[in-house]
Amino acid sequence: MVSVSGMSAQPPADRAALPKSVRIREVGPRDGFQNEPEIIPTERKVELINALARTGLRRIEVTSFVRADVIPQLADAAEVLARIDVPEHVSVSVLIPNERGLEAALEQRAKIDEVNVFLSASETHNKKNVNRTIAQSLAALERVLARAREEGLRCEGVISTSFGCPYEGHVPSERVLEIAARLSAAGAEEVGFGDTTGMANPRGVRTFFEQARSTLPRELELTAHFHNTRGAGLANVLAALEAGIESFESSFGELGGCPVPPGATGNIATEDLVSMLHEMGIDTGIDLPALLACARAVQEALGRPLGSHTLVAGPVSWD
Ligand code: ZN
Repeated sequence: MVSVSGMSAQPPADRAALPKSVRIREVGPRDGFQNEPEIIPTERKVELINALARTGLRRIEVTSFVRADVIPQLADAAEVLARIDVPEHVSVSVLIPNERGLEAALEQRAKIDEVNVFLSASETHNKKNVNRTIAQSLAALERVLARAREEGLRCEGVISTSFGCPYEGHVPSERVLEIAARLSAAGAEEVGFGDTTGMANPRGVRTFFEQARSTLPRELELTAHFHNTRGAGLANVLAALEAGIESFESSFGELGGCPVPPGATGNIATEDLVSMLHEMGIDTGIDLPALLACARAVQEALGRPLGSHTLVAGPVSWD
């Protein structure tokens, strides 16, 4: 008889081509919470962030300094930052929409390691999201990045709708890469490419990241930020890995979305991402059971079943 367990021990043939370890930024406390209609008490947010920071995650985006009347859920940004207790080795970042947001964040300078700035690669989405043209956004973000660098903060630029726009459809990769090059020149050490409304497919993702790798500066960290809107999130992760990408963003519980258009659903679940990577022999440094406890806690706090698969099934057991 053929030994089934013996067969499953065989590594995939192209394993050597994939990275041995990847970096994951948890964006649930920002990308996730901002899409929740019911206000989550600050105390709860602080507990969840403190627990996430003890799962082995090295990067957490904890909140955003947006106008409270635009996103009331994140009106407690300063308080969240002041109250969280995060181990030294965890890099804390905040999403910054503009110069005023940065000044507000700097009042908690000691609690922040990184800032993330964002714009869309599509004019229509950018207009609807931040009421600016791409050129206006870039000019403003260049000033934000310069000021953040003066303060010694590491900077990431995130480009929404990098793989397609719900209003404009196709987004030329040349335009996305041009924006990435501008952000890099302005001081961003990392650029995240967001599939904001889940329009990416694995073939397109692989081609895009191969092009990005060969045209953008070598030292620029390239990060993939997929939403699972149409279920292609993890397939897109594999395509990005095959193109040499080693940095990802995801949300515990599969929380998340985008303010525009309505119906844009969650990021890939961090626990699904971690489970798949560990099964592939790729290290994340994250303790999956500890992360699942966080996802269960947020599911309980929100009082409804979340989209994460591993939260339902539990980790793979080979015993
Ligand atoms: Zn997102």
